[in-house]
Amino acid sequence: MWCGVVTLFPQSFSAIQDYGITARAIKNGLLTLKTWDPRDFTVDNYATVDDRPYGGGPGMVMMAQPLRDALAAAKQAAPSRPRVVYVTPAGKRFDQQTARKLAMNSEPLIFIAGRYEGIDHRVIEHDVDEQLSIGDYVLSGGELAVMVIVDALTRWLPGALGHNQSAVNDAFSEENLGLLDCPHYTRPASLAGVDVPPVLLGGDHQLIARWRKKQSLGQTWLHRPDILQKLTLDETCQKLLAEFQKEIVKEEPL
Ligand code: SAM
Repeated sequence: MWCGVVTLFPQSFSAIQDYGITARAIKNGLLTLKTWDPRDFTVDNYATVDDRPYGGGPGMVMMAQPLRDALAAAKQAAPSRPRVVYVTPAGKRFDQQTARKLAMNSEPLIFIAGRYEGIDHRVIEHDVDEQLSIGDYVLSGGELAVMVIVDALTRWLPGALGHNQSAVNDAFSEENLGLLDCPHYTRPASLAGVDVPPVLLGGDHQLIARWRKKQSLGQTWLHRPDILQKLTLDETCQKLLAEFQKEIVKEEPL
């Protein structure tokens, strides 16, 4: 997977280049992550990348020329025709399905990280294929949004995770009906008087899978009822969820 980023803060990408799953994917050749700084493509003595907005008002706007020249250099370096993605609050909401699709397409991606009030709109109209938002809030810059997207899609690259099934078992995966993940436990088996659910210690894999499915359904019902509302649960899932709900009611203090 080849990703390029046009950014005024290339150093900030060390957060994913040097740490964790993404760093390992880069080291193992599964992910290439390169940056282009529009400041390196300026034509004046002050390396100007922003200017005042036409029409007045607060803030500055990223100028088209350095941005487009940086983009052209990134496109030239891409191994095949890249898809250009601008991260912006106005974009389509990024989710786990989009992360998976981007990773599976293995089309080179060039992200544009905006700063200030954003980028000159003509760049969006002429050079951008897709706009993505990571949520309904405003960040000071697109770098964090790009890092979120690259991290999430890296988890879907075959071989990027320690265990091949991990991404499929994660929350929101189609294989898990788009449900939240089940709770996880590790040693010690008893902590401050709270025991790990006994089924997890019994070694019966069918019972463990059944418990996990029930917990996934239950956690989704508790924390993301909107996801459940969109699903038509089969009889087994309905039964598991009813069991979970009954157990919760039993556990509630009087
Ligand atoms: N005036 C802009 C607005 O209200 O949409 C905000 C610009 S913001 C301060 C600067 C840059 O951060 C944007 O150009 C965009 O690249 C990035 N950004 C901010 N919030 C974002 C979000 N929720 N998702 C993706 N990118 C975001």
